[in-house]
Amino acid sequence: MANCNSPQMLIVQVAIPVPLQRLFDYLMPELSDTQSIQPGTRVLVPFGKGTKTGVVLQIVDLTDSRIDPKKLKRVEKIIDSEPLLSAKDLQLLKWASRYYHHPAGEVMASAFPATLRRGKPAILQVDYCYRLTEQGRKTVATDLKRAPKQQALLRLFQAGSMPIAAAELAQHNTTLKALQDKGLVHKEPNQHKSRVWSERATGLTANPEQQHAINAVVSGLGQFSVFLLQGVTGSGKTEVYMQIISEALLRGLQVLVLLPEITLTPQLEQRFRQRFSAPIVCFHSKLNDNQRLHAWLSMQQAQAAIMLGTRSALFTPLKSPGLIILDEEHDSSFKQQEGFRFSARDVAIARAKILNIPVLLGSATPSFESLFNVAQRRYQLLQLSIRAGNAVDPVFQLLDIRNKPMQAGLSEALITAIRSTLAQEHQVLLFLNRRGFAPVQICHGCGWVSRCDSCDANMVIHAAERLLRCHHCGSEQPLPTSCPACRTGELQPLGLGTERIEQTLAELFPNNAIIRLDKDTTQRKGALEGYLQQIHSGHADIILGTQMLAKGHHFPEVTLVAILDIDSGLFSVDFHAGEKLAQMIVQVAGRAGRADKRGRVVLQTRQPEHPLLTTLIEQGYQAFAKIALQERRQAGLPPFSYQALLRVHADNAHTPQQFLQDAVTVLRALNTSKIQVLGPVAAPMARRAGQFRFQLLLQSPQRKDLHQLLDQAIPQISKLRQAGNVRWSLDVDPADLY
Ligand code: ADP
Ligand code: ZN
Ligand code: ZN
Repeated sequence: MANCNSPQMLIVQVAIPVPLQRLFDYLMPELSDTQSIQPGTRVLVPFGKGTKTGVVLQIVDLTDSRIDPKKLKRVEKIIDSEPLLSAKDLQLLKWASRYYHHPAGEVMASAFPATLRRGKPAILQVDYCYRLTEQGRKTVATDLKRAPKQQALLRLFQAGSMPIAAAELAQHNTTLKALQDKGLVHKEPNQHKSRVWSERATGLTANPEQQHAINAVVSGLGQFSVFLLQGVTGSGKTEVYMQIISEALLRGLQVLVLLPEITLTPQLEQRFRQRFSAPIVCFHSKLNDNQRLHAWLSMQQAQAAIMLGTRSALFTPLKSPGLIILDEEHDSSFKQQEGFRFSARDVAIARAKILNIPVLLGSATPSFESLFNVAQRRYQLLQLSIRAGNAVDPVFQLLDIRNKPMQAGLSEALITAIRSTLAQEHQVLLFLNRRGFAPVQICHGCGWVSRCDSCDANMVIHAAERLLRCHHCGSEQPLPTSCPACRTGELQPLGLGTERIEQTLAELFPNNAIIRLDKDTTQRKGALEGYLQQIHSGHADIILGTQMLAKGHHFPEVTLVAILDIDSGLFSVDFHAGEKLAQMIVQVAGRAGRADKRGRVVLQTRQPEHPLLTTLIEQGYQAFAKIALQERRQAGLPPFSYQALLRVHADNAHTPQQFLQDAVTVLRALNTSKIQVLGPVAAPMARRAGQFRFQLLLQSPQRKDLHQLLDQAIPQISKLRQAGNVRWSLDVDPADLY
């Protein structure tokens, strides 16, 4: 062995994060033995004029290849003494690189937290932790007046019995210091390195449907299968997750829980800390580098039992993997929309298959793909059809606003409904998916409108900031006071945004507290948490906001939900729009009447007979999805076919078209006519941030055929004459066609 495998004869194949679909060959470092480098180990290698951190994927025998060793450089340094990624991790990443046709080096890099990507040592700091003192246990959080951060942190400690590792609290340093100075928490050496994980508080008594779901997944532990837990909001999905997790923990298995939104993690983290006596870590973009490193290594070394994270947490190595849970599986934020455009749901399933563990997808409004997979018997459906506890389903009402007088988007009937809800001291939630004051400014004299110079889009009026802002490229200009074209005409806002509605609401309901939640009001760090706190403590009467409201938050005091403008969603060019709109309606509606108060959901529309709305409201999401899926089948659209979208942009309109024309030639030469090639066409927004955008859609009834074609075509397309003059990307299974 030692002889024929001497280091001189071996080539290390390294994935390096550069946009090239290939691996790079290096010689073993001098004086190293063959065991010192294994796949999954990070290495520092010379690259170009400098060095780069890469991951070893394979070690091959020089004698088997046609490579001239004189041309190869040596690995400069072996960073890890043990591989950080297991063979199965590498298998998944290689699969993802092939499936999404994305460079292996970049795919590998996305599996690591930034610190490790930069080549820093992989050392887990678990020496110290913090724990509540006796006084800290007794202190009521709200006694810490005017210190909301200290209150929140104290609550986090009080929620669980476990000490929290110092590294996990890195972001809270000053707050932690304050609690320490007040004698509420203290630092101690971490003795809690044991692997005995258990439940701390027992769960609720599951209802029969919950119990059925729990049993199904628990008996599936240890083998691959996909479960779809469909349950209306408030039906007790989280309780089901927790009871399954507690079984997994008893068996010493780790659980990865993925959520669509960062803002949802603190709520769940608190519930989990209350329930489990096991180390829990979080992983998302709001954490700092050290926290992410700590969380990642804790899972990799099985020092932590549960990870709560967003899409980027998916690739975290698990030493003893037990289960992956993906909550709100329909949510489009599970699809990465730039660079490595993977779907966290689809890759989670691929990962579970490789690890031979179950995946649990949860949603009130499952994606059509998942429902289709249930129909194909690939996924097992678990249903929770009733709301847990006392909550009852909300009542829907289509409010016909044709020819009705409106006050800034609010019909009289709606205003009356708001008034009576407020009179009962319940909360009202109003949804409008458009921020800003008005989507466009228009001149009453000459018809000038506020267009963006760099995009095919209007500039939105932001009244409080006195700005016009483009929501696509971010460019801004002061709000004109006279018409830039005719100088004399009167400038008017056209259409409605949340800012304008807020103003109208303030005039109509001067004595009520109104909270607006959108990207503009929640940009400041901690702002959203502050508003949510205010809502929960009852210091809000009307909550107005954008899609932010549709995601997972619990507002038990809300009994009236209104969607102000549903019509603009009914006429999109993208075939995904109907599915997204229906999910949005059901999700927003799910915010209403979660406790013992019955909720009411009002949809203002000029299309009260539109089949999407009537089916959804009279027959429910399931029936709607069934009909919509039949339409997709007839049209040959996904999930009855598979798509890949080639997107191109450049600073002129010519080169992208030329590039795509040449790509079509390549595709036609390879194509066995099984795959439809649609385009090239201009993107729905043809110009954005000064870039001219075009696209080409590939569609095939068979996934295999599509990928075979891509495998052959992409290397050729990347060498096309114009490839260096445009920016292009491939989106496999695109979630939208923009
Ligand atoms: P979801 O995740 O589906 O929105 P949750 O798990 O958060 O639902 O449950 C909603 C509410 O119902 C919570 O307050 C929860 O404590 C309660 N609940 C869940 N399951 C039960 C049960 N079996 N018995 C009583 N209450 C329950
Ligand atoms: Zn004018
Ligand atoms: Zn713009």
